[in-house]
Amino acid sequence: MSVRANEGGWRALVIGYHNVAPTPFWSAPPDAGLRGLAEQVRWFRRMGTIVPLRHIVAAIAEGRPLPRRAIALTFDDGYRDNVERAMPLLDRMGVPATFFLVPGFLDGDVQAWWEVSSWAVHHATRPMTEVAGHSVPGGDVTDPRVRVFMEAAKAVDTDTRERWVAELVDGLAPAGENPLPGLFMNWDEARTLAGRMDVGSHTQRHAILSRETPADQHDDLQGARTRLQAELGVGVELLAYPNGQPDDVSTDTVAAARDAGHTGAVTTVDGWTSSAADPLTVPRFVLDPMSGRRGLRKLVRSPGFARFLASGPLR
Ligand SMILES: [Zn+2]
Repeated sequence: MSVRANEGGWRALVIGYHNVAPTPFWSAPPDAGLRGLAEQVRWFRRMGTIVPLRHIVAAIAEGRPLPRRAIALTFDDGYRDNVERAMPLLDRMGVPATFFLVPGFLDGDVQAWWEVSSWAVHHATRPMTEVAGHSVPGGDVTDPRVRVFMEAAKAVDTDTRERWVAELVDGLAPAGENPLPGLFMNWDEARTLAGRMDVGSHTQRHAILSRETPADQHDDLQGARTRLQAELGVGVELLAYPNGQPDDVSTDTVAAARDAGHTGAVTTVDGWTSSAADPLTVPRFVLDPMSGRRGLRKLVRSPGFARFLASGPLR
């Protein structure tokens, strides 16, 4: 996002996290994520004021006042470690956050495709399989052929992607029990979370929305929001677009988000936000909590950092 000198009066920062404990897709030492998250949150508290994301959205959309150097923390996908590990840490530190949840994952009847694929590759009992013309070897999820398959899977619609992943699992025949049911929250855990923190939508099945028809995008977003509100007993006004890159969010996607009643939505496009931002495509720096202080370099080296600092006095 380019920022002009005469744009708006403030700069704010929105951070995107996922899991804080290791998973098949995101390997790391067991405690690195929580330690790194604590280091990053301490730094954010020194740099500015951590507010709920809805405050930044209201400042953009309605001109509501915002503390100088406002920073919002968000977590996508509903990993169980968010409620078991991240939430208690944030509570102790007195810091708000917004958690973007997927009803299909909470029901347990949709599995996060990137995690199932990674588990199948890690625990493959066959050396190689063929899916939709892609040769995918078992063993190492960082193998370029695995990455090529993953990228190809992002380019197709949800039904096709889920079929490919089922074929991958069949073809690699992973040993042992599928860990996915333990990896994500259930509805009871989501209710606990919603009692303490803000909750937003991340679609019904983690669809990469622009791959779906406009009608399907609308039905998905409307359905996910209605379901989350009914099950959790809280208002759900915010959305995180799955995958969240420019190709994943079309003009139809933004229109569907608005029509489904969302007042704000976040992408995964790196960038600082300002009073001139579109509340339905708020940029967000995605950080790996495992990277700790090192991960913050991305922010400090970004061209908008100086302007963010200049938008308010150090506390
Ligand atoms: Zn996601």
